[in-house]
Amino acid sequence: MNTWFQKQNDYIKDKITNNINKVRTHNQFIMGPEVKELEEKLADYVGSKYAVGCASGTDALLLSLMAYDVKPGDFIFTTSFSFIATSEVISLLGAIPIFVDINPNTYNIDYKKLRQTIEKYVNNHVKPKGIIAVDMFGLPAHYDVINAIAKKYDMFVIEDAAQSFGATYNNKKAGNLADIGCTSFFPSKPLSCFGDGGMCFTNSQVIYEKLCSLRVHGKGVDKYDNIRVGINSRLDTIQAAVLLAKFDVFEEELKKRKDIAIYYNDQLSELRDITKPFLFHGYDSSWAIYSLLAKDKNQRDKIQVYFKKRGIELPIYYPKPLHKQKVYKDLGCYNMIDLEWSERASERIFSLPIHPYMTDGDMKKMTDYLILSTYV
Ligand SMILES: *Cc1c(COP(=O)(O)O)cnc(C)c1O
Repeated sequence: MNTWFQKQNDYIKDKITNNINKVRTHNQFIMGPEVKELEEKLADYVGSKYAVGCASGTDALLLSLMAYDVKPGDFIFTTSFSFIATSEVISLLGAIPIFVDINPNTYNIDYKKLRQTIEKYVNNHVKPKGIIAVDMFGLPAHYDVINAIAKKYDMFVIEDAAQSFGATYNNKKAGNLADIGCTSFFPSKPLSCFGDGGMCFTNSQVIYEKLCSLRVHGKGVDKYDNIRVGINSRLDTIQAAVLLAKFDVFEEELKKRKDIAIYYNDQLSELRDITKPFLFHGYDSSWAIYSLLAKDKNQRDKIQVYFKKRGIELPIYYPKPLHKQKVYKDLGCYNMIDLEWSERASERIFSLPIHPYMTDGDMKKMTDYLILSTYV
């Protein structure tokens, strides 16, 4: 079990207990007052007009596509290097994910390749419908360009901010960088609850109202008046109560994550073989994940073994790019384009633990081990 959850729990025990106890007194388990309070607080934090809580980050993406009436056969452009949820929701609606390669410096969708790919479809008289960009590891994608491309071709943009809640891009917060921003409160994400949860952010009243309807069975005036096909995807009141407690210390936790990332980069600066995450002007990552590139798969395997012998698992996000997943084996005809960097990254990438409750000793151990592991 991940011990930092316990440390966080202990740190804000009273806040969490008080908030949960409040739910136990009003007993409004579905859409209770904490849900509204959290939506208002988080909308205010990211700077969006509206927020809609839902049952998971995956559902936030699904609801967003449904809000744009994505239909079977629609083409949605997205990155080939992400968690399956990003493309799964496209496929679930019968739409077709068109995978675009990443920029190896950011692990985010390569906007030049995105434009080229979209143009290829447009030139073949295919109307592209939308884009899902992902803020990988917490670093926002390049939305100035992505939004401009989308505008030119009359497409929508969804920001998969599951990892980037708290990040900034040109002084704007992640979650508020596209038409809809989707985040996740899954336990390993920067702001997390005691289970599954998610949220959509938008500045459009029309989209907001649609999302509110979609998450409650396509309701009209109430849930016994049904005006469209929706789903059941609400954020539990009890999870909202937990999130409100955790949000009080979120800024503090975010700062600690950033400090660790900077410490790691400094300590590892002389490791020439290993590619460290870049720090870009105008961007602030939420540092959900701190990923590095080994020089090749062999070196990565050695590093993993070295840490494992010392009781530390180094996770790999992601060992297989989306277009290589078995579930997409029949998509070949749509994905003949070059996805070189997604493939290369998946063979070499690994990450060091990063969480706000690490001690200086924990941090030093990680960099010491990593340096030593590259010399054995
Ligand atoms: C975690 C994650 C999701 C899905 O969130 P859930 O809350 O687990 O459904 C989607 N996209 C990315 C990039 C993620 O990391």
